[in-house]
Amino acid sequence: MKAVSCRNAELDVVELPTPTPAKGQVLIDVLRCGICGSDLHARHHCDELADVMSESGYDAFMRSDQAVVFGHEFCGEILEHGPGTRRRSAAGTPVVALPLLKRGKDIHAVGLSAQAPGAYAEQVLVQESLAVPVPNGLAPDIAALTEPMAVGWHAVRRGEVKKGTVAVVIGCGPVGLAVICLLKAQGVRTVVASDLSAGRRALARACGADAVVDPAADSPFGAAIAGHGHLDTVPDALDLALGTLERLQRLPVPWWQIWRAAEALGAKPKSPVIFECVGVPGVIDQIITGAPLFSRVVVVGVCMGADRMRPSMAINKEIELRFVVGYTPLEFRDTLHMLAEGKVDPAPMVTGVVGLQGVDRAFAALGDPETHAKILIDPRSPAVEPSRPAG
Ligand SMILES: [Zn+2]
Repeated sequence: MKAVSCRNAELDVVELPTPTPAKGQVLIDVLRCGICGSDLHARHHCDELADVMSESGYDAFMRSDQAVVFGHEFCGEILEHGPGTRRRSAAGTPVVALPLLKRGKDIHAVGLSAQAPGAYAEQVLVQESLAVPVPNGLAPDIAALTEPMAVGWHAVRRGEVKKGTVAVVIGCGPVGLAVICLLKAQGVRTVVASDLSAGRRALARACGADAVVDPAADSPFGAAIAGHGHLDTVPDALDLALGTLERLQRLPVPWWQIWRAAEALGAKPKSPVIFECVGVPGVIDQIITGAPLFSRVVVVGVCMGADRMRPSMAINKEIELRFVVGYTPLEFRDTLHMLAEGKVDPAPMVTGVVGLQGVDRAFAALGDPETHAKILIDPRSPAVEPSRPAG
C-alpha cells in the first residue's frame, strides 16, 4: 500500500506492506484522514513531545529518527477482520475509530507512534472494539472530523457551560472552531471568538460564533462580553459583597439565613467560560489578566515547553483553570451521531482535500491561517494541491 512516512521531518510517499490485522483488529480502507495540528507539530518537535509522554508513562511516542505514518483523524471501510473479532459490522461498512492500537499488552497512539502506523495511507489497522459504524450515510469528509470534533465536545462538557453562560473562544484554528460548533450545538446563546487572522474569524462566524474579535484591535473581554453582569475588577466584587450585605440587613430576617438559602439555590456572581485554543506561551497569563473575576478557563491548546503565569493575578480574581485532553469513548460515539444527525455542522472548517502526493504541500499551506484550517487527505485522489471539497 501507499503511505506518507515522516522521518527526520521529511515527508515522503512510500510503498509499505499492507498490514495484517492481529487478534481483535480490523483492517480498513482509508476514505479520508484529517491533518491535525499535532501532526504539524510532531513533524518538527516530536522528541520534546516524546519526552513529556515518557514522563507521563508512555514510552513509545514517535522519535524524529523513526519512520512514522501520521494520521489519527480518519474514516474508512472495513476490508478484513482479524482473528477473534466479533464481526458485528460486515466488510464494506464505513467506520470511524478511536486512534489506539494494541500490540500485545501495550496500547499505542495511532499515527503518533512507530508501533501504530496511522491513516496517511491507503489502509490502516484499528481495534474492532474502538470502531464505530458511520450512520445515516454521513459523508466521509464529515465523518473524518469525528476525532477533532470529539476533542471540542470533551472541552465543552468539561467547561460545564450553561445556555445562558457567555463563552469566549481564544484562537480559531481547528480546535477553537470545533469548540465553537459544539457550544452552539449545546444551545449556548453568546459565543465570542477571538483570532488575529481575518480568515479564521470568518470561519468562526461560519461555525456559529455570535461575535468575533480581532485581539490586535480589541480585547475579547471588553465590549464583546459587556452587559452580562460580569465583575471586571476587585473593587467591583467588594462593592457587590458590601452592597448585598447592606441590602439584606434592611430585611427583618437574619442576613446569613438569606445568604445561605441563596447559595443553596446556586446564586453566585456571573462569570464567563473561556476556552484557550491557542497553545502558545503567554496566552494563559494574558487570559488571566484580561478575564472577568471568577472566570473558568478551559485550556485545550497544547503549549509545549515551559510557560509563565502569575498565580497572584489568578488568585486575586479567583480564576479557575481546567486542563483538558482527548475525549471518552462515549463522547467520541456521541460526536459521530451529532454529526450524522446534522446537530453539528463543521463543513466550513474543511478548506481543502489532497492526495497522498500532496501532503507535503498541504503541511506548508496549513502554515497560513488566512487560507486553511482543516485539510483532509483522500488516499485515492491524485491532487497535489489542496482543493476545496466538492459540495
Ligand atoms: Zn488531532
